Amino acid sequence: MFSEQDFGMFVRALTFAADKHQNQRRKGHDRLPYVNHLIRVTDLLWREGEVRDVPTLVAALLHDTLEDTDATADELETLFGAAVLAIVREVTDDKMLPKATRKQLQIEHAPHLSTAARLIKLADKIDNVYDVSHNSPEGWSHERQIAYLDWAEAVVAGLRGVNRALESHFDAVLCESRELLLKKKSP
Ligand code: ZN
Repeated sequence: MFSEQDFGMFVRALTFAADKHQNQRRKGHDRLPYVNHLIRVTDLLWREGEVRDVPTLVAALLHDTLEDTDATADELETLFGAAVLAIVREVTDDKMLPKATRKQLQIEHAPHLSTAARLIKLADKIDNVYDVSHNSPEGWSHERQIAYLDWAEAVVAGLRGVNRALESHFDAVLCESRELLLKKKSP
């Protein structure tokens, strides 16, 4: 059960994430506020994955703050503790590296991540695959969308073995997304 303290931290993380990402929108053509993605990822963990570990759920809300906002590691540690910071760090790409290298490293690092980080990455890929196919980013060609799905599948291959429900949910969303993209291609 969530304690009063857990719930306090959860709400604080949601507020922090909404604030830090306030000027950021999702790439999809509906341009939803970025925080919707963070809520969906956390909701996938909670409902599909039945994840009840508090640091994992809090880190899910914060998973893109180090990569995409001016949030610092010190801030995260002070507000949410070392355990949450460690998970967020694990799911943060090194933005100094070129994009292609970062994508390759995600595939290579996946099997070495902690359970918490693997769960968050699984939920993240579920939401991103859904968005790329159902709410395609402006200007993405069919080939680019297919390539994204293939890459996500390769990353998830290295994440398996932590949560069967989330893994099957990923497979279902991936399969449905591929069918949708095929249908869009052939009128
Ligand atoms: Zn994300």
